[in-house]
Amino acid sequence: MKEEFISLVKELYGNDFVPLHRPVFEGNEKQYLMECIDSNFVSSVGEKVTEFERKIADFTGSKYAIATVNGTAALHMCLHLSGVGRGDEVITQALTFIATGNAISYCGASPVFIDVDKDTMGLSPKYLKLFLDMNAEIKNGVTYNKNTGSIISACVPMHTFGFPCRINEISEICKKWNINLIEDAAESLGSYMGDRHTGTFGLLGAISFNGNKIITTGGGGMIITDDDDLAKRAKHLTTTAKVPHAYEFVHDEIGYNYRMPNVNATLGCAQLEKLEWILEQKKKIAHRYAEFFEDLGVKMVKPIESVSPNNWLNTILLNTKEDRDEFLRYTNENGIMTRPVWRLMSNLSMFQDSQCDFLLNSKFLEERLVNIPSSVPDLN
Ligand SMILES: *Cc1c(COP(=O)(O)O)cnc(C)c1O
Repeated sequence: MKEEFISLVKELYGNDFVPLHRPVFEGNEKQYLMECIDSNFVSSVGEKVTEFERKIADFTGSKYAIATVNGTAALHMCLHLSGVGRGDEVITQALTFIATGNAISYCGASPVFIDVDKDTMGLSPKYLKLFLDMNAEIKNGVTYNKNTGSIISACVPMHTFGFPCRINEISEICKKWNINLIEDAAESLGSYMGDRHTGTFGLLGAISFNGNKIITTGGGGMIITDDDDLAKRAKHLTTTAKVPHAYEFVHDEIGYNYRMPNVNATLGCAQLEKLEWILEQKKKIAHRYAEFFEDLGVKMVKPIESVSPNNWLNTILLNTKEDRDEFLRYTNENGIMTRPVWRLMSNLSMFQDSQCDFLLNSKFLEERLVNIPSSVPDLN
């Protein structure tokens, strides 16, 4: 299987080193960036940020979008804006990128790591419900963890590798338990549950435009929300909480310098013009891999019913940890970048004392998942 895989990847991407995911600059990137530099507005002031925000709001079907310096900052702000505070608990999945856990920690809150579903690799509604039924209680409209006495103030599911998780069910559970739903949609720009874009199911959602994501602004992120007041506060807090004034510097609370620079938003505007095309190309690659692995009897992660993924990172599931290790070794030695999934958050030193459930699916997946090259092939 490994030899055939190498041949396929070379057929798709050529004989040079093949990265996991490289950005595509096939549109107006260079032209817009030159114009941006000529305008002198490369930093925290400029009209491209507003344009990029409006375009992302339109694309995702959100009322508002607020651009940030990166996805982690966007997620941090989402949690802060939703009221997550010092000593609170925030439920998320154990199988996620470190940024999810970090953003929770920046608020002074503790993450609680719950298992994922095997098919979506995202937060499991079944285990979320079980955890809350066994450990939570509502007093005066506030949800507490009965064991620790702490407030459970938010739940942060993540759409792993662009595959939407069971977000409708998670949303129902959060509503019933009066817990704010914040989506880590960092990896899922262009992914839908039904006809609704990921990141729009809860109070707030966070998107990333890091260099390895589906489109990039170099570094960048976006907060999306339908809430008028939260949108206003998001803009205020990410721009150092400066009170608008023609020349005076007055700041009315501790704010953050989290605003996306204009030069990054410029790149984003050019990238967005190609997003639909990128999504089409990525769908073709995913189909190609699906056929290939089906013939060989290798399991590939497929979207669940009624979702449409962005096919950001194609992912296979090998039978054993030994098979996985051998596949990783062979492919990387042959100039083809493949990667295991992240180490479970609950196993990292900073989070080793965190609450978690049995994490059986997470542990199963942790040993077997492999990401394979998923870039849009070079046109030249
Ligand atoms: C990329 C990513 C983020 C945000 O990352 P930045 O590099 O800060 O833009 C957050 N969560 C997940 C799951 C991610 O993959």
